[in-house]
Amino acid sequence: MAETKRDYYEVLGVGKDADDAAIKKAYRVLAKKYHPDMNPGDAEAEKKFKEASEAYAVLSDADKRRQYDQFGHAAFEGGAGGAGGFGGFDFNSADFGDIFGDIFGDLFGGGGRRGGRANNGPMKGANIRKSIRITFEEAVFGCEKELDLVLKDPCTTCNGTGAKPGTSPETCPKCGGKGQVVFTSQSFFGTVQNVQTCPNCGGSGKVIKEKCSSCAGTGYTSSRKKIQVSIPAGIDNGQSVRIREKGEPGINGGPRGDLLVEVNVSRHPIFQRQDVHIFSTVSISFAQAALGGDVKVPTVDGDVIYTVKPGTKTDTKVRLKGKGVPSLRNSSVRGDHYVTLVIQTPDKLSAEAKEALRKFDLLAGNSLNQATPEDEKGKKKKGFMDKVKEAFEE
Ligand SMILES: [Zn+2]
Ligand SMILES: [Zn+2]
Repeated sequence: MAETKRDYYEVLGVGKDADDAAIKKAYRVLAKKYHPDMNPGDAEAEKKFKEASEAYAVLSDADKRRQYDQFGHAAFEGGAGGAGGFGGFDFNSADFGDIFGDIFGDLFGGGGRRGGRANNGPMKGANIRKSIRITFEEAVFGCEKELDLVLKDPCTTCNGTGAKPGTSPETCPKCGGKGQVVFTSQSFFGTVQNVQTCPNCGGSGKVIKEKCSSCAGTGYTSSRKKIQVSIPAGIDNGQSVRIREKGEPGINGGPRGDLLVEVNVSRHPIFQRQDVHIFSTVSISFAQAALGGDVKVPTVDGDVIYTVKPGTKTDTKVRLKGKGVPSLRNSSVRGDHYVTLVIQTPDKLSAEAKEALRKFDLLAGNSLNQATPEDEKGKKKKGFMDKVKEAFEE
């Protein structure tokens, strides 16, 4: 009848002396590789998955493992002598649900309900995602925000059961309270079993005959709540703040999910940010550039006075140490603020100012560089304005 069964240890690829952790680890690897969800329509993978699951069901159970070690597969062949205690391995047995709950809970990252996982044990509620917009300065220095949120709470009338007071939810007749059902189908390789969430109770294992009128049988009521959100100094655009247990209520006594608040930082009219550093541009006059002098430089800490050195060229970069953004990890450490000094070429000049500039040019030893008839060879001497122009055209 049955084809020759492979040794369970061989199936999982572990030694006879493997401990529980090693067996579980080996099964997780195989289950992930061959799980029907990962290999839709692949009968061979499904067979391997079933084989590994069967091996795991036996080797992860101390009693069954002892029987298997003593009698081999015969231990589970009903009436074939051996231990005779529990007959053939049965995918419909209660053990199977436990295996799924145990393995697949973490295999699929927790909180998931894939693969018909029995979910009538305590489970963490789902996370809620929200976003808020804050200013550039609020991101730099941190801020407190209030979020207006509709949150679910377990219904107080029915204590979250969803059943009318005085009644209680009944065990689902379709799945017998397990929250999952096993579908059997025949394939070339034999009988294939799929475990799925019970369609009758949605996986809760319970059905409600008379619904609670306060929550219409959902077990939850919703209300608007104000949640305080502390945005840490140094947060950047797109980062999220996690507020524990302000998400969806837990299931069957599990903890609430978390609230994840994504932060969107508005652009600043003069500051740009890169990691912990701030960048900006400050205009200085030609006279300030030539003679030096104090200029006002806006920073996130307010204006600071920077002394421009005489003979400063346009596009000179200045570092204001520690005037940048605090580090998220350690707010006492701050980045720097880089200022680019740009010389403004005057374009609206009074006659008086023009005269002063011409005078300056002469005094500085420059010609006005006007094309005159004497400039026959077109030889050009570079004047001051050309130099300024060049500086800008670089
Ligand atoms: Zn209720
Ligand atoms: Zn059910």
